[in-house]
Amino acid sequence: MLLKSVRKSLYFPILVLILIFLFPLFTSAKRDQLNVLLITIDTLRADYLGCYGNRVIETPFIDKLAREGVLFKRAFAHNVVTLPSHINILTGTYPLYHGVRDNSGFRLDEKVVVLSEILKGKNYRTAAFIGAFPLDDRFGLNQGFELYDDFYGDTSHVNEFAEVERSAEKVIFRAQDWIEKNKEELWFCWIHLYDPHYPYNPPQRFKDKYPQDYYAGEVAYTDSSVGHLIKFMKKSDIDKKTLIILTSDHGESLGAHLEKTHGIFAYNETLHIPLIFYQEQLFSRPKIIHHLARHIDIVPTVLDVLSINTPKHVQGVSLVPLIKNPQKWKEQDSYFESMTPTLTRNWAPLDGIISGNYKYIDLPLEELYNLELDFQEEKNLASTESLIVKKLNVKLERVKKSSSNPEMEKKKRVTEDPETMRKLRSLGYVSGSAQKPSKK
Ligand SMILES: [Zn+2]
Repeated sequence: MLLKSVRKSLYFPILVLILIFLFPLFTSAKRDQLNVLLITIDTLRADYLGCYGNRVIETPFIDKLAREGVLFKRAFAHNVVTLPSHINILTGTYPLYHGVRDNSGFRLDEKVVVLSEILKGKNYRTAAFIGAFPLDDRFGLNQGFELYDDFYGDTSHVNEFAEVERSAEKVIFRAQDWIEKNKEELWFCWIHLYDPHYPYNPPQRFKDKYPQDYYAGEVAYTDSSVGHLIKFMKKSDIDKKTLIILTSDHGESLGAHLEKTHGIFAYNETLHIPLIFYQEQLFSRPKIIHHLARHIDIVPTVLDVLSINTPKHVQGVSLVPLIKNPQKWKEQDSYFESMTPTLTRNWAPLDGIISGNYKYIDLPLEELYNLELDFQEEKNLASTESLIVKKLNVKLERVKKSSSNPEMEKKKRVTEDPETMRKLRSLGYVSGSAQKPSKK
């Protein structure tokens, strides 16, 4: 009777709205009993995905994950090469802290805590399935993984790249097998898919679909492989008790700013990355977040979701409060660097900071971009906005000082053996012959 009268009244639509508003984003899923699946897609540019606005390339499976989860529109990496970037993702710390600044010459120190070690300590089974050599266990990211599957012996790619990479479906096949065997336990699984990385050589059906753009073909192929994995998870209801995080380590320039691939500059073609969190029961409605999010925020977010305390040294922050209430969020700054040119070619060190709408790149010729108006970074404002440049330079120096770790800074670089150098070179790294692109 009462309900009837309320329903008839003018207040009913308002009541419904209030109930919808109050319905918590974090509903009934048992947070301390969730598995964690981290998918990192190497060299995946955010704007090559439908969910980031691409209207040409078909990526239906990642788009669906984004639609049903939480998509961070403005997410950034801190490095533009594979090894340091993955260490940022898996430790929640800047390269200034963990000390790994490039793909060669560095090893992750055992003292640095990896997400796998934290979760293993909480009785999670842990495994990593690696797509290519830059994340080989010799570089030290295998800490805390009971299984670190970096066997590239069988590759569908061209022969000269055998032993250095393997296709997404092969990585996923092995990961699914492990998940199936461990499905009765709590687990953390990291899957690294390498296909969009140069050379672009997708399976024939994707070459046929994107004859002008084999990179797009690699992205679409990788999406289809992710689709197989999601279908497998849904079929056995594993997705219901799993938190899925999908990101990339960096993008690909594809000729923008006169850079062919990645690893030299830190423009948004390589620094802007996709970031999606999916958990059917926790994140109960689609959500797009426009505030800045960072790779170093992934570890504290995962730990927050699982109700595990974040270790004090972690430099990122949990994105859970941002997902719950974007209006109350305190915007974070994001540090970035590209040290490969310094370490291999003696160029000036490149680092910078994204703060609010601005991105400041600290080089002998400074650069400043308003990302709100100029996300493609075509108009350098450094000469006309000297006050902002000054302010951001101070902020950058402050972040560098507060984030650095003297113990790791003191560590000597490793001299790589000829085999390691050959393998990295075959993937386009440590090349001494590349031309110096002109800088703005
Ligand atoms: Zn990479």
